[in-house]
Amino acid sequence: MTSYLKSKLLNIIRCFYDDIAPILLRLTSLNPFELLISTIISQNTNWKNVEKAIANMKNRGLLSTDSILKADVSEIEDALKVAGLYRVKARRIKEIAEKLRSWSMSLEEILAMRFEYARSKLMELPAVGYKTADVMLAFKANAPVIPIDTHIERIVKRLGLVDEGAGYEGVRAILESFVSPNERALFHLALIKFGREVCKARRPNCHKCPLNDVCKSSNVRT
Ligand code: SF4
Repeated sequence: MTSYLKSKLLNIIRCFYDDIAPILLRLTSLNPFELLISTIISQNTNWKNVEKAIANMKNRGLLSTDSILKADVSEIEDALKVAGLYRVKARRIKEIAEKLRSWSMSLEEILAMRFEYARSKLMELPAVGYKTADVMLAFKANAPVIPIDTHIERIVKRLGLVDEGAGYEGVRAILESFVSPNERALFHLALIKFGREVCKARRPNCHKCPLNDVCKSSNVRT
């Protein structure tokens, strides 16, 4: 049953690949620092508002470590007002720039290191945990990793692919066991889209979900 579920999930999520391809292009076109800042801004914020906040940062010349170090936190806050938790995020971005300045290696050099080293180094940055580090590695270092966000964790647990208590690495391992390395970045984005549109946090649309026959959490009565 589990292998049927995995292959069905993969086939369903692949149907979202065409829709999500422009976002993949957009993410890979950002430089590492822009992607890092975008990922911090995206916490609890939809992608449209992230784009607006990034445009504001760009218009104010705030998309480099040096410019952020020189800027007052209030200037960064002003640019981020369209995003949630903008005060906290502005402080974090400033702290990240300070930490990056203290390193002898650039972000680009870190991303070129082997996966485990680069991941742990990135996680020394304020507000950077597994997910943000893995996003950086997936989109800027071509690492065959599936970053796990709250949507992905919710879907995997609802489907019963892992136990409720599984942590980040457990969820990542199960997905990486059946998604080929060259499609993991796309799969990550497409699964998030599925979580936003179908397997929503509050009201999962199980009636319209093509996985409702194999999902242990489906609310469709048969
Ligand atoms: S059946 Fe419902 S709970 Fe299960 S994956 Fe689909 S939307 Fe989510």
